[in-house]
Order: sequence, then structure tokens, then C-alpha cells
Amino acid sequence: MKDQIRIRVSGFIEESVVDGPGIRFVVFTQGCQRFCPDCHNPQTHDLQGGTEVTIGEILAKIDSNPLLDGVTFSGGEPFLQAKALAELAECCHARKLSVVVYTGFYYEELLANPDNRDWQELLNQTDILIDGPFERDKKTIEIAFRGSSNQRLFCLS
Ligand code: SF4
Repeated sequence: MKDQIRIRVSGFIEESVVDGPGIRFVVFTQGCQRFCPDCHNPQTHDLQGGTEVTIGEILAKIDSNPLLDGVTFSGGEPFLQAKALAELAECCHARKLSVVVYTGFYYEELLANPDNRDWQELLNQTDILIDGPFERDKKTIEIAFRGSSNQRLFCLS
């Protein structure tokens, strides 16, 4: 059953206005092997760290806040858990909530793997994709929702 699917997370922000448009619930997924220098979320790197929670438990938190405009998947690297997150994203869309996904991959890399059905399923459920690793030399606070100027925002829906 979809509610019982487990996702390894580092934590949540119940309300954010800096991780995509509007008021958003943020899921910080656990696990990233990219190790960008000065990553803001180093606690998310360990693939075995964090805790496992079910989609049902995450939805209970989301459903408790009627002010939300959407849900954001950040990390960590969400595409390491693409299948489970695609299921969660589908549940968010059923609630009329938009889905923003951050990734250290570039969009072209994700598209270059059409046989990776999990990646394609998550892309299919993504309204806004913010791509690319954090690059210390390109750090900026002037571009909305991004930490470095190499990162791009794609509206996919
Ligand atoms: S991809 Fe994101 S989470 Fe992973 S090391 Fe880079 S900035 Fe940190």
C-alpha cells in the first residue's frame, strides 16, 4: 500500500517560503554522495543516516496545514529515492499541492537516462525542477530559490 512506502529523510521544515513559490512543506531526503564543498546540509550525506518514515506519516504532517501551496523535496539527493518520492508527489498532486524538486544532477543528465524509469517517474511528477550541484565559487544570494548561479529552474508542468 502506498502509505506504507518508506523514505529515508534527514528532516522536515513545516513551512518555508525560500524553497519554491508560496508556503511549502520541505522534505529533506537523506543521502548524497556528491560532497559539494560548503554544502549547506552535510548532515544529509550519509546514505544510512537520518530516519525512515512512511509516506503516510509525511502526508499526515502535510494534511495538518491547510495553508500550504506545495511540497518541496530537497536533500540530500532526492533522485536516489526517486520511486518513493514519485509516489509521494502523486499524493501531493491529488491534494492540489505543487511539487518542487531540488537535485545535484543537471536536467540533461536526468533526461539522458530514459531507461531509468524511477527517475522519469519523478520527473513526470515534478512541477519545478531546480538542478545542479552547489558550486562554492558561484555562490549567490541574488537568485530566487538557488544557492549558486550554475543552478537552474525549470517549470515542467
Ligand atoms: S548535491 Fe546538494 S546535498 Fe549533495 S553535496 Fe551538493 S549541495 Fe549538498
